Order: sequence, then structure tokens, then C-alpha cells
Amino acid sequence: MYRYKKKIVDLELFKGDDNSHLTKFNLPQKVYFCKKCNSSNQRPTTRAEHLIKEDNTKATRFFNGICEACVINEDKETIDWDKREYEFKKLLDKYRSRNGSYDVVVPGSGGKDSFVVAHKLKHKYKMNPITITFSPFIYTPHGRRNFDNWINAGFENFLHTPDQTIYSLLSRIALENLYHPWHPWILGQKNSPPKFAAQKNIPLVIYGDSPSEYGSSKEEFKTDYLIDWHTIDSFENCFISGESLETLYSYGLKKYQLEPFIPMLKSEFMQKKIRCLAYSYFHKWHPQENYYYSVKHSNFQPAESRTTGTYSKYASIDDKLDHLYFYTYFIKYGIGRATSDASQEIRNKDRDLEEGKLLIKRFDGEFFSEYSDEIFDYLSITNKKYSQEVVNLFEEPILTKKTFDHLTNFFRSPHLWKLNENKDFELRYK
Ligand SMILES: [Zn+2]
Repeated sequence: MYRYKKKIVDLELFKGDDNSHLTKFNLPQKVYFCKKCNSSNQRPTTRAEHLIKEDNTKATRFFNGICEACVINEDKETIDWDKREYEFKKLLDKYRSRNGSYDVVVPGSGGKDSFVVAHKLKHKYKMNPITITFSPFIYTPHGRRNFDNWINAGFENFLHTPDQTIYSLLSRIALENLYHPWHPWILGQKNSPPKFAAQKNIPLVIYGDSPSEYGSSKEEFKTDYLIDWHTIDSFENCFISGESLETLYSYGLKKYQLEPFIPMLKSEFMQKKIRCLAYSYFHKWHPQENYYYSVKHSNFQPAESRTTGTYSKYASIDDKLDHLYFYTYFIKYGIGRATSDASQEIRNKDRDLEEGKLLIKRFDGEFFSEYSDEIFDYLSITNKKYSQEVVNLFEEPILTKKTFDHLTNFFRSPHLWKLNENKDFELRYK
């Protein structure tokens, strides 16, 4: 019996409107769009990824037709940013090294946002930052260039790269279980920095943006990231790619191979007094300005051409698997990469609503043809990389466009998707 069987897809669910009330992932049944930024109420918010067995979403809240990201953005007009910066400086002073040692950990990729945080901490706030990167699955050439550029701009970096056979296997399992191939990277990116901070005895970790910039709740827009995002009470409750640690061990995987993805125990985190701050809580966060700042202060370069699925060249450009991730996101939530980029820019007044809508119409949900062969190859479970025991877990170990499309249809929710006259899938809401 295969652990990861070929899924059964009932195409009848997508014909006509009879089943348009059926939802997946705990999504709200009625779909609507923010009057201000055009983001939709299907957008998931940040959660503790290591507690996920099934893909249940807590969607962005709306208030009088406005999404919570826009509400928070409006509230920012009334924030006394000088006072926030003063609080920030006072906090840094508590951790500031007196003997020339490192005093703050900055996690990131070397993209525009983490570049700004590290650079300002070093040059404006006179801290001694050390940077840490949880490796993308497959670097893009420009992603790797910007990572090198970060180091060349004056930062020591620890690049944490998991065993690639484990990394790709976990991504494939997450694709099968959750249709969320990026999930192992999120785990690493959340869990590796605090553990690094504990090892190095540098208890201050500063991330860039707060998830509340993009629709997580106002209550979570605080100085510190929620402790549950990167710690756990007991490893019995820990899930990776939707599987318990016990299950993954039963495949022959070892604890050390899973270590990069496993969170710290909450008790250890508290005992070592580690803090994980959001830089954007203390400063008015503006992604486009971060881009200009990075270009001004380093050799930061955007991608050569626009990114598939959107019109932009500078957001989330490090990992080839980003393309797959944004595609799965579009299938699950009906929100593509162009929507994410445009709604952020509209919110920050870099673009108007009508222009944003045109870009979304043109680019959202575009398939990542230029990278698909390489990505499917990466996620295929072959004897070259794995034991027969692992290959045997999959009814279809080789991922092709055909097997991927079938899996995709399984994860479509009837409340979002319908089959049109040409038997093509289209969104019910646009
Ligand atoms: Zn909005």
C-alpha cells in the first residue's frame, strides 16, 4: 500500500454552480475583495507551520469591506514613529556589545528587505550584526548574486543548507499532503535563526517585516514575533510536511536530518531569553523604498526580466521553487503573485487600484514553464537519490506535468473554481 497514493479527483464538482458552496482549507465560503487594495478574504495568515497536520487556514479578517492589512496600514498614519524608533534604540542598547563581539542576528536572504535591516543596524544603529540564511531549495542566479552581494557589502553570513535529498523529499511530501511545497523552507527560515542565536549566545534576533503587513491580525502586530511561530511545547506535537516525526523516522530518516526544520523547545527559548523582533514594528516599512535603499548601498540587482506570474522584478526572487509555491497558492486561494505584489503596492501608494487590477488580470496564475522541468525533476523520488523503501512510499514517484496537474485538480476548491465550456478550469470570482 502506498503512503502517497494518486488522488481521486471528482470533476463533477466543478461543473455548473451546484457545488459552489463547497470549500477546502477552512476558507470563507463567500469570496470578496478589499475595496482599497484588491486583496481577497481568502488570503491565509501566518501560523505555526510545525503544528499543521492538515492545511487549515485562518483567513485575513475584513472590516467594512477593508482587509486587515489596509486597516493596519491606515492606523500607521497615527503612529508616532519617532517614539517607536526611540523604543527601538533603547532596546538595542540593552543588547549592545561593549567588547566588539556580535550582538544581533539578522535572518534573511540578502534580498532587499533583509539587506536594509542588516545595513541599518550596522551603520545607523552601530550594532554588530551577524546574518544567517536558510538556503532556498534551488537558488536562482540573481538570488545567489544578491546573497553574495550582501556578504560583499560587509556582513558575515552563515548559510544553513539542509541535506538536499531530505529537503526535496520533505517538499514533495508537503506537496502531496498540503499542496504546500514551500513549507519546509518556512520551517527552516523560522526555526533555524533562534537556534543559531542560542548556540552563539546572541539572544537578539531581528527579522524584517511583521506578517501583519500582509493581513495577519492586528493583535499580532507587536514588537516580537509570536513565540509559537518558532517554538514548541513538546516534539510529540511537531509535524513536518504534515507528518509526525515518528512517521518520518519510520521512513528511515534520522533526527539529525530533520533538525534544520524542527523548532526549539519553548522552555529553552525562554530560559535563554531569546527575542525575535520585527523591524517593521519600529519603523515605517515600505518594500519599494527598501529596494531603492539596497540599490543605493550595494550592488543589489533585480531579476533581468519580470518574474513569472507577476510584473515585478524584485520581490521573492531567490528560489526557483518560489514559482511553484506561488502557483499552488493561486490554485488554493485564487490569489496569484501579481495580486500579492499589486495589493502591497496599492496599499503603500506606489500604484493605483485600477492599474493594479489590469496587472492582476494580465499576469495572475501564469504557469512557470521556464522552471517546471527542473522543479519536477528536483521533486521526483528516484533510486538515484533514495532507498527503494522511500521510493515505494509513492504511487507516482516521478513528478511530471501530467501527475502535477492531476494533483493540482485535487486541491482546487469548488467554491473558487469551475470548469468552463472548453473544459478548462477558471476562477468563479475575478
Ligand atoms: Zn486591503
